[in-house]
Amino acid sequence: MRWLILSDIHGNLEALDAVLDAATADGFDHILCCGDVVGYGADPNAVTAIIRSCTTHIVRGNHDKACVGLDDLEWFNPAARHSAVWTQSVLDAENTAYLRALPRGPFEVGDPTSPPFQIMHGSPLDEDEYLMQSEEALMMMGYLDTRISFFGHTHVQGGFRFHHGGVQRLDPKIPSGRLELVLDLDSFYLINPGSVGQPRDGDPRAAWALYTPEDRSILYRRVAYDFRPAQRKIIAAGLPPQLAYRIALGR
Ligand code: ZN
Repeated sequence: MRWLILSDIHGNLEALDAVLDAATADGFDHILCCGDVVGYGADPNAVTAIIRSCTTHIVRGNHDKACVGLDDLEWFNPAARHSAVWTQSVLDAENTAYLRALPRGPFEVGDPTSPPFQIMHGSPLDEDEYLMQSEEALMMMGYLDTRISFFGHTHVQGGFRFHHGGVQRLDPKIPSGRLELVLDLDSFYLINPGSVGQPRDGDPRAAWALYTPEDRSILYRRVAYDFRPAQRKIIAAGLPPQLAYRIALGR
């Protein structure tokens, strides 16, 4: 069984298409999503329709909540708030209903052939919490119910390995666009597949991961894509221009 792990797509149709094309070439069985299907990008309906049709398991992200009126936007910066209000105004009824019904993480996933694992958006305790630093991640170790969990929210590909009471930050540098991590049997892992539609780790290439439990293998992946149409649509929709610029910067 091979799982395609997506996160933080953020209404970027060009990035999602590029990831699905590349992942199809690699091969996978099921798609999981750690949330933030919409927000920031200008294609919330097309992206939600694709995710609805192909995702086996998904948890909601903070932007998914905000873009369907389940959040008061109090903690959103002005650009995020502007995009959430705009997204809510253009989402059709079917996509709105789908996003409103997304479950909160952590959510346990598994199949009869391999141990269960979890997906979540922010942290095991709080779907809105950012796990950026090792110290923050270490405090979560006691709350991990499975040896392997996938999270998003930070838009930074990598994650954390917990071993003998300590924590190691996983910071893959992958100029070739693919890097395999073989998982230890005696460690716990929080794996971030990176962001499909708005990476913030300095690399503008779309990010995702493939998980093969039988091989204890995580394959971190990146692919370059033409983001100019996504940028043009953000500008044409009247959304804050910085949302277009940052796609090119990966920040
Ligand atoms: Zn996000």
